[in-house]
Amino acid sequence: MGLAEYRRQMTEDRGQIRNVRAIHESSEYATDMEKVNVNLGERGYTIYIGDNILFKLGELLIQFELSKKIAVISNPTVWKFYGIKIIKSLKSAGFSPVKIIIPDGEKYKNLRTVEKIYTEMLKTGIDRKGCVVALGGGVVGDIAGFVAATYMRGVKFVQVPTTLLAQMDASIGGKTGVDHKLGKNLVGAFYQPMFVLVDISTLDTLPEREFRAGLAEVIKYGVIRDSSLFKFLEENREQILNRDRDALNYIISRSCEIKARIVEQDEREETGLRSILNFGHTIGHAIEATTGYRKYLHGEAVAMGMMAEAKISDVLTDCKNRFRIAELINGYFSFKKVRNISNDISHFIGYDKKISDDEIKIFLIRNIGQAEIDSIEIKRLKKIINAEEQL
Ligand code: NAD
Ligand code: MG
Repeated sequence: MGLAEYRRQMTEDRGQIRNVRAIHESSEYATDMEKVNVNLGERGYTIYIGDNILFKLGELLIQFELSKKIAVISNPTVWKFYGIKIIKSLKSAGFSPVKIIIPDGEKYKNLRTVEKIYTEMLKTGIDRKGCVVALGGGVVGDIAGFVAATYMRGVKFVQVPTTLLAQMDASIGGKTGVDHKLGKNLVGAFYQPMFVLVDISTLDTLPEREFRAGLAEVIKYGVIRDSSLFKFLEENREQILNRDRDALNYIISRSCEIKARIVEQDEREETGLRSILNFGHTIGHAIEATTGYRKYLHGEAVAMGMMAEAKISDVLTDCKNRFRIAELINGYFSFKKVRNISNDISHFIGYDKKISDDEIKIFLIRNIGQAEIDSIEIKRLKKIINAEEQL
């Protein structure tokens, strides 16, 4: 679907099932927001997606029974751009925001930061009816969510994600937590937010490399579940890279919906269904680990991982999806040379957490948009990898 066609359809759709006018017509600032519901019974919630909607935060919070004091957790990079808007919105809805700033970076995603936040919340008197707002990327969201899950045995929580990755991946699904020196995301809790507020305009300030890295997860959603999204990414590259708001609205809304539907079926990653979201990640993680988590951003490693995993899938299914997938990825990423990862991988595969006994989970892509999980003997996978000169 081209962007013009999409715009037309979006206008027609307004008021219908997905694209509803979420705010009262009478509101002074009537704003269009897409709504994607995450249907998890009493833990269910809405993801609001729109352009320039940060100011809606306070208004959206009024419906919940909350104390006046609200902790807003962010980092200096994000605060500089959006802090004032958030404070204004909360104040005008009658709340008293408490600003808590943590340093920027994955290396601060640990229990020390969590403890510092607890201390500030206790000192400023945030009580059990208080609320935590996460304003930032996935790092802030994961930390703030864990704080909300554990502070006084749990307080209300809202996500205001500001990176592409956080807007269509990290803020949805309730995984919260921090890193441990022995590994990433090893301490945490499943804790769903009350709602997620995705303001697409915040992506204007996101560094180019972070933006592109986020697109890897969008490509992933296309490959595993949605051939139209995949096609949209193929046909609207320029608009997407120029951060055209309508194009972003479409890819983010679709991605949120796909993630929501998967999370609904397997909220706590128990049935294995949720692991379909790991396409590209087995090899992606191997690349990240063998390069010390420094050389590539997560999305970049996942992009390379998807190319390699698509190749393995093609070998096993006798399909030819890898070419279209690689072409799309190469349109958004400019890897100078595809890393020869076969050694890293055969070494690393033995440590992957998706392994049970001597089998490993792999993805079979029957068609673009139709992927399933299967398992394969490690011995056989190693043979396939070794048989390929460059995965
Ligand atoms: P990040 O949070 O580190 O953000 C990347 C950089 O962009 C940071 O420097 C940040 O300060 C900056 N930034 C954020 N928003 C900005 C904006 N609008 N303008 C300018 N700069 C901005 O990285 P990320 O990619 O958003 O998140 C990665 C984290 O998310 C990892 O810790 C990962 O484990 C976690 N994650 C969690 C889940 C989940 O389900 N909970 C899923 C995927 C990833
Ligand atoms: Mg990921």
